[in-house]
Amino acid sequence: MQDVVEKVYEQVVARNRGEAEFHQAVREVLESLGPVISKHPHYAEDGLLERIVEPERQIMFRVPWVDDAGAVHVNRGFRIEFNSALGPYKGGLRFHPSVNAGIIKFLGFEQIFKNALTGQGIGGGKGGSDFDPHGRSDAEVMRFCQSFMTELSRHIGPNTDVPAGDIGVGGREIGYLFGQYKRLRNSYDAGVLTGKGLAWGGSLARTEATGYGTVLFAQSMLATKGDSLEGKKIAVSGAGNVAIYAIEKAQQLGAKPITFSDSSGYVVDEAGVDLELLKQVKEVERGRVADYVSRRPGARLVTEGRPWDVPVDVALPCATQNELDADSAASLLRNGCAVVAEGANMPCTPEAIEAFQAAGILYAPGKASNAGGVATSALEMEQNAGRTRWDFATAEAKLTGIMADIHDSCVEAAETYGRPGDYVLGANAAGFTRVADVMIAHGIV
Ligand code: GLU
Repeated sequence: MQDVVEKVYEQVVARNRGEAEFHQAVREVLESLGPVISKHPHYAEDGLLERIVEPERQIMFRVPWVDDAGAVHVNRGFRIEFNSALGPYKGGLRFHPSVNAGIIKFLGFEQIFKNALTGQGIGGGKGGSDFDPHGRSDAEVMRFCQSFMTELSRHIGPNTDVPAGDIGVGGREIGYLFGQYKRLRNSYDAGVLTGKGLAWGGSLARTEATGYGTVLFAQSMLATKGDSLEGKKIAVSGAGNVAIYAIEKAQQLGAKPITFSDSSGYVVDEAGVDLELLKQVKEVERGRVADYVSRRPGARLVTEGRPWDVPVDVALPCATQNELDADSAASLLRNGCAVVAEGANMPCTPEAIEAFQAAGILYAPGKASNAGGVATSALEMEQNAGRTRWDFATAEAKLTGIMADIHDSCVEAAETYGRPGDYVLGANAAGFTRVADVMIAHGIV
């Protein structure tokens, strides 16, 4: 790292002790900024770098709730409003036991650049709680969401901060959160949350958008080499919304996804994933991946390790941060994998990314390749503001156009700053310059 960015990084580590994922996310961006600052030194003036790594506002709150047996639980809630240069803070809520301030901060930081890459008017934020919805009844999830929103409602609004889903927060949770917000405010502000149900302000294609976008991005990368996903074998991790719709779009494009996973293990289905069965198990029954295997002859469950040992042409990590390490990267490369596109946020460790880049394969960082979800959230906001609804084809066509633009911006920025084909540099440089230019225009705020 250059001296000027190294100093900023050291300050981040000193000021945010123990927040390893946040340090990791900041380091990756700052490392990319060396060539940008060499070419345009004004980006390092007026404390711009120091300002961009410091959240504008961090909210942390108690979330007390009562379970079905009458016992009281206390969780911790977070909302980190990181950067509002480009628009209202925008980003998901994650409900998972691993959530802490450092995790939400890393996600919020990534979100700034991801949202900038979409070209839409959305700032960066993220929130969540260490609440675990797994194994909880609908009534318990509802009471938790109501308590969480009772505090969060003071801080959000359609022009201020617009949360959405992430791990552990889907349509059910967004429904309970919206119901409580509406009651507290006595105002039907459809644009205060995205990922809503279709009957009350949701957008068609929002559910599919993150997974679809990730696959479209992989297809665009392959196109730069005159290739496509047609006939390619794919390893997917995760079995949530991102993984399911990555599998769907990959199948539509003629590829063959053969794995998916959850915390109980990963499934290998050499015949190709039976998507209807996977949706039934995960979306309808809220079951485990083992329930798929018990109903699918030929599929096997592997309870140790990750899907990255399975020989494939393309890897789509769609589960969670740091799920693909140096060993996994080595195994993918050994087996001839030539494309990695991140559907999750920061799923590859820095060592894994280094290995992919050293091998010269196509590697897309999540802030570019998984931006389709938040981009379609911004499309949902647009429909809410216009009190209108688009059909699926219209929403999907817009998503496809946005993903193509993000891909091209990354390629162009990588070339401008002297590292053609480096999508990490491309995404960070293109996202950063868009936010930085507006921060400069707004003065020191
Ligand atoms: N949680 C998603 C992400 O990581 C979507 C955020 C949103 O739609 O606001 O980008």
